[in-house]
Amino acid sequence: MKPENITDTIVQLKVPMSRNPLGKTFSYLLKESRTLIDTGVPSEEAYTGLSDQLEPYGLKPKDIERIIITHLHNDHIGLAQILQEDGIEIWAGSAAKERQEMMVNEWDNLYENTLKELDLFGGQQYKHNITKNKYVFKSDVKPMQIDRYLADGEKFTLGDLDLEVIWTPGHSYEHICLLNQKNRILFSGDHVLPKITSHVALHSYRDHDPLGEYLSSLEKIQDVDVDTILPGHEWTFNDLKPRTQQLMTHHRNRLDEMKETLEDGPQTVYDVGSKVHWDSRPWPVMTFWTKRMAATETFAHLFYLEKMGEVKRETRRDTWYFSLP
Ligand SMILES: [Zn+2]
Repeated sequence: MKPENITDTIVQLKVPMSRNPLGKTFSYLLKESRTLIDTGVPSEEAYTGLSDQLEPYGLKPKDIERIIITHLHNDHIGLAQILQEDGIEIWAGSAAKERQEMMVNEWDNLYENTLKELDLFGGQQYKHNITKNKYVFKSDVKPMQIDRYLADGEKFTLGDLDLEVIWTPGHSYEHICLLNQKNRILFSGDHVLPKITSHVALHSYRDHDPLGEYLSSLEKIQDVDVDTILPGHEWTFNDLKPRTQQLMTHHRNRLDEMKETLEDGPQTVYDVGSKVHWDSRPWPVMTFWTKRMAATETFAHLFYLEKMGEVKRETRRDTWYFSLP
């Protein structure tokens, strides 16, 4: 993979991620300030890919001064956590602090809560997938050290570039986009991607409305006046407003489709998830882990509908049933 010059001083690096269908994460090099926006997964392949693409610019990974991360997902921060060992500063959106505290609190009971979630979501038949993979839910993970928190609306200059922080919770609570007004560029992270829809999910043990937040965050950026959108994956694109509107329509259609499944009477999260259409692959051939992601995405939609008063929820023998009011 080869780096691509976006402007004289902004370079798009393609950090490989061959085990993931997305194939790569974009890392953006701001040459004058030796800054990266996002990195990639914590793999040898990713590290080599990044090093090789920095080389034509006379840089080694340890020459980087700071990394700004759009959100705390492994495909954006994993490699940053390795680079951080060389003393590189990490900057992230202010909400990352709250998010990390929440995750640390959850780690202690994650295994128990995950099993309980299968009951609540009506996925009892999948429990063996969790019990035989108990080691995945280890509680000794240390949160990433963040050196500077960026507030929503904060403006700063790095080298020749003016940047403004736009907090865009939804795909992830702490997600930020960065606007470079002078060049009419938006670094959109995973908030808006050109083709795929970002995963918007909710676990049973959390109590917020990620879909509501996501839709508001789409509204928040739809009128940002830019020519170039530099996302976290896929490819560079230009049509921000039509794309945000497409995404809003996508979720409105999903909400309608889910409500329709409730016309046959009360359904669990797994019932609804198994009845709606999925772009990636049909429900019956999804692995347990993909079904689990689909279930949390389904729950995010049902939670939103419940908040809007369009569906109601009742608990029967530790399982939630959703129905039309
Ligand atoms: Zn990503």
